[in-house]
Amino acid sequence: MKIGVLALQGAFIEHISVIQQIGVEAAPVRLPSELGSLDWLIIPGGESTTILNLMQTFNLIKPLKELSQAGLPILGTCAGMVCLAKKVSNSNNSNMETLAVMDMEVRRNAFGRQADSFETELPVPALGHEPFAAIFIRAPVIERVGPQVEILAKLPNDIAVAAKQGELVVSAFHPELSHDLRFHRYFLKIAASH
Ligand code: GLN
Repeated sequence: MKIGVLALQGAFIEHISVIQQIGVEAAPVRLPSELGSLDWLIIPGGESTTILNLMQTFNLIKPLKELSQAGLPILGTCAGMVCLAKKVSNSNNSNMETLAVMDMEVRRNAFGRQADSFETELPVPALGHEPFAAIFIRAPVIERVGPQVEILAKLPNDIAVAAKQGELVVSAFHPELSHDLRFHRYFLKIAASH
């Protein structure tokens, strides 16, 4: 199995390192020609406007959308979650074109300035009993989901911050920074079952 980590901008090196710690092959991808050989894909956190602009520039939007519609498992974290969402609010660009493959609306930079970045012990039932030390950095939140989307985690104020739709898994936080492999292992399990 080969995992590609979209390496246009953001925290792709950290994801590659987590996947390698799990013992699975991971490689950075940047070009449409590199997508065909992938079994699974990770879109990392970073700046979603930059990542989406670069996806346009490198002609990645259409092939990624098609691969996703054909069942390519994708993990999107933070800005990566924004890239997968059907609808984005709080974007500086009202026509921000995303991959629009996951039936949810997300709000960018949802925590404002004061709580801009924080870490919290987040219960994620799909990962087991132990909470996950979730690191949020200028994070988005999930505001609305369609019927096929399952919420995986909520903050104490009931705001959804991780979800799954078939073989697509997203988190508003950065699991690659937590020194806890469970979220990536969970994605690999979902991906392997599709
Ligand atoms: N605020 C960023 C965005 O909307 C996401 C931040 C992150 O990925 N850590 O793209």
